[in-house]
Amino acid sequence: MLQSKLPDVGTTIFTRMSALAAEQQALNLSQGFPDFPAPLALRTALAHHALEGHNQYAPMAGLPALREAIAGQLARHRGVRCDPDTEVTVVPGATEAIYCAITACVRPGDEVILLDPCYDSYRPAVTLAGGVPVHVPLHTPAFAPDWERIEQAISARTRLLVINSPHNPTGAVMSREDLLQLESLVTRHGLFVVSDEVYEYLVYDGRQHHSALQFEALRSRCFAVFSFGKTFGVTGWKTGYCVAPPALTAELRKVHQFVCFVAVTPVQQALADFMTREPDYPLGLAASYQHKRDLFCAALADSRFTFQPSAGSYFQLLDYSAVSASADTLLCEQWTREPGVASIPVSVFYQQPPPQRLLRFCFAKQDEQLLRAAERLCKI
Ligand code: PMP
Ligand code: GLN
Repeated sequence: MLQSKLPDVGTTIFTRMSALAAEQQALNLSQGFPDFPAPLALRTALAHHALEGHNQYAPMAGLPALREAIAGQLARHRGVRCDPDTEVTVVPGATEAIYCAITACVRPGDEVILLDPCYDSYRPAVTLAGGVPVHVPLHTPAFAPDWERIEQAISARTRLLVINSPHNPTGAVMSREDLLQLESLVTRHGLFVVSDEVYEYLVYDGRQHHSALQFEALRSRCFAVFSFGKTFGVTGWKTGYCVAPPALTAELRKVHQFVCFVAVTPVQQALADFMTREPDYPLGLAASYQHKRDLFCAALADSRFTFQPSAGSYFQLLDYSAVSASADTLLCEQWTREPGVASIPVSVFYQQPPPQRLLRFCFAKQDEQLLRAAERLCKI
C-alpha cells in the first residue's frame, strides 16, 4: 500500500460543496467564482489567439508581452517598479505559485507560520516540502493578525510566513500598520514571506489594498502572488503570476518549470491584449462588488444571522449563533438541501476551530441570485 503523504487531506470543501449544490439544485454561494461572464473583449481575444494558431508552449517564465503588462499594471496601480524579465513569472494559477514558492523555500524540518483561518492549499504544500506548519489564529472578531502572538510562535527553525489580504474566508483587509509590523518582524527574524494578494482589487468602503511589494524591506524577502482568475473573472483559466526579487524568482522558476513548466499560451496572449487596451479595468471592480455585497447584506437585514459587512474579497461571513448550535459542517450540508443555499463552513480553514459559528457566502453572483439566496436564508 502507498503510505499517504497527506493522510488528513480529502477532496477540497469547494469541490464537495459545489457538487452537492449541483446535485441538490441549490443556489451555489459556496465555491468562490463569478456566475456572470468575463469581459467580452477578453473572451474574444482568447478565441482569436487560439484560432490564429498560438497554441504551442510559451516561454517558461511567461509571454514577455504579458509580463510587461503586469509590470505596467503594478507601476500604474501600486507605484511599484519591477523588472518583467527577472521578477515576474506567469503561472497556471496562484495555487501553483504558492506551491512553488513554498517548495523553493522550505526544507525538511523548517517551520512555516500560517494564520488561521487559512486558505486550504497552504498547509499541504508545507507538509509535502517536509516542513512543519505552525498555526497562529487571527484575532477575532476582526480577524486581524496578532503580531505579538505571531512573534512568540517564531523559533530558530522558522523559515517562512504566509499572509493573505484581502482575506479568504473572512474578508479582512490588513492595514498599512499591519504590513509595517510584518516588515519589521520578518527583517528581525530573517524570514521569507508568501503574500497571497489574489483579491487585491476587491476592497470596500474606501479601503486601500496594501501590497507587500510596496514595502522595500518586506519586498526583498517576499513572493507576492496574484490571480487573473479573480481580477478578470476567469477562475477557470487558471492563470496568475508571482512577483519576487531576482534571486527568489530564479528559485521559484526552478520549481515551476518542473511542476507545470508554463501557463497556457493563448490565455496569456488574451490577457496581455486586454490589459494593454484596458489598463484601468481592475479599478472598477471594487464598486461593482461592493454593490453586490451591499445588496446581499441589505436583503439579510431581517434574517436571524448576524454579520459585519465584508471589508474585502468576494466573501461574506454570516454568524448563525442565534439560529443553531450545530456544527457548521453539518449546517452547510443541511441548508444546501433545504432551503437550498450552499455555503462554506469556516471551521475547515482552522487547525483548531474556535467556538464561533460562521459560514462563508460568495457574493460574486448575479444580483437576482443574491436576492433569491437571501430570501431563502431569511426563512431559516
Ligand atoms: N489564494 C486564495 C486566497 C484564493 O482564494 C484562491 C482562489 N481560488 C487562490 C489562492 C488560488 O487562485 P488560482 O485559482 O489562481 O489558483
Ligand atoms: N478559492 C476558491 C474559494 O475559496 C476556490 C478555489 C478552489 O476550488 N480550489 O472558494
